[in-house]
Amino acid sequence: MTDCDLCGVGIPTVAPVRIFKPKYVHSYPNGMWQGLCEPCLNAAKKVNDENAGTSCGKAGKCDFCGAIAQLFDVDIKIPSFSKGEDDSTVGICKKCLSSIGEAHERWEKEKAAEEHAHH
Ligand SMILES: [Zn+2]
Ligand SMILES: [Zn+2]
Repeated sequence: MTDCDLCGVGIPTVAPVRIFKPKYVHSYPNGMWQGLCEPCLNAAKKVNDENAGTSCGKAGKCDFCGAIAQLFDVDIKIPSFSKGEDDSTVGICKKCLSSIGEAHERWEKEKAAEEHAHH
């Protein structure tokens, strides 16, 4: 089991997303791999698509890579013991969103290839 790096849900496989954390840029000049569950991946991908080409958004600290940047709201669900899940909004920077967009594309391709292999 692994944990989604955004909502913390424990699932067997997460989609790998390569991001650049400013704090670790010297130790990891090629970026670090984070893992996202499919709902988080889809939520962030949607925001990335909707905001393609726009540079608006509020300034703040990215919840994913920790960079100070323009952030976009991504609605996710956090697993909760009392309610099953809790709605939450995280702020993700454009750079992370586009990495997630790429990861989403790879993930969908892998999923399609896997389905193909089973038939
Ligand atoms: Zn998640
Ligand atoms: Zn970021």
